[in-house]
Amino acid sequence: MLHQRIETELAAAAAEGLTRRVTDLRFTGAVTARDRQGREYLVFSSNNYLGLTFDPRVRRAAAAAAEAFGSGSTGARLTTGGVMEASDLEQELAAFKHREAALLFNTGYMTNLGVLYGLARPGDLIFSDELNHASIIDGCRISRATVVVYRHGDAADLEAKLQAHPVPPGAVRFLVTDGVFSMDGDVCDLPALVRLKEAYGCLLLVDDAHAVGVLGRDGAGTASYWDLPGAIDLQVGTLSKSLASVGGYVVARREIIDYLKNKSRPFIFSTFPSPADTAAAREALRILRTEGETLLGRLRRNTARIRQGLSDAGIPVLPGDTPIVPVMVGAADRATALDFRLREEGILLSAIRPPTVAPGASRLRLTVTAAHTEAQLDFVLDRLAAAWRQG
Ligand SMILES: *Cc1c(COP(=O)(O)O)cnc(C)c1O
Repeated sequence: MLHQRIETELAAAAAEGLTRRVTDLRFTGAVTARDRQGREYLVFSSNNYLGLTFDPRVRRAAAAAAEAFGSGSTGARLTTGGVMEASDLEQELAAFKHREAALLFNTGYMTNLGVLYGLARPGDLIFSDELNHASIIDGCRISRATVVVYRHGDAADLEAKLQAHPVPPGAVRFLVTDGVFSMDGDVCDLPALVRLKEAYGCLLLVDDAHAVGVLGRDGAGTASYWDLPGAIDLQVGTLSKSLASVGGYVVARREIIDYLKNKSRPFIFSTFPSPADTAAAREALRILRTEGETLLGRLRRNTARIRQGLSDAGIPVLPGDTPIVPVMVGAADRATALDFRLREEGILLSAIRPPTVAPGASRLRLTVTAAHTEAQLDFVLDRLAAAWRQG
């Protein structure tokens, strides 16, 4: 039975040209990589927004931690997960976000599972934006709370749904949103969400995975961008994007953090990342806090150059000002063909197709970093415009 099911589903994906394949890559710099055949690529699809994966200080911190403290943490933090610096990193993240406390998880994905599954329970109501990240969707599912999906970024639809769903006695209501949406690159309307959270007595969770190191004058994310410090109850983030490592975290009131330490199964039952991962993230966060203005300035100039260049070339891009730049193609096979053509030219970007996005909304998704040079940006603009004209 299983064999048959697998065969049918893989054949259906293949017939639509939607088979997913892993590309084995080795990075040779913050935005350059090589594949197994030795071909070199300029990378426009990583989440390495500040280019810190190749910062010598970050690399040295990781190497020194592995040398001094071993290659692995050996357990979950409630057992032998021996990474003393994890608690330091939690304090530093909380301070950066101007909140009381933080808790680290193994990835951003696990953080959304851990927070939603840890806090929401059957009977509770979770109102979730339709374009939220898969980790939020999965966290909602395993919590077994009632999930109400509202139209993307539509505060009026959200309010109508808040009114339409009665609250069972003792139930908690959560509003859950991405800060920067990962496929459209737009920013959530935090003022509207805060107004609704206050009017209806909800807890607000914002996933800042693509927002930290990107949004706000200090790079602290969505709350900083909208100048609403203290407005978000649960700020989820990742160490794997601008912070150049791996891991996730939530920043919240101490009472919530203490509760999650006691109750969140993804925190309790999984081995903590290595000392090197923690050391790299701490050093990246230190650099963001001390040199953020320079790095963010570079990221914003690069973002503006790409967005302006594409629009000058008449290429349709979803509007916005984040480094996630969706070039709207339409048909999945055209997105695949453009992706292939650019790969041949040594440019890696992502063709995003159904089911990740709606049918007819296939796109090329470019991500810009602070580490791209002007020459590299102009090269991708030139090659993309040429490929676009040829169909
Ligand atoms: C990338 C991402 C995650 C997952 O983070 P990982 O650390 O890669 O597991 C969660 N939420 C959003 C919005 C993301 O973009």
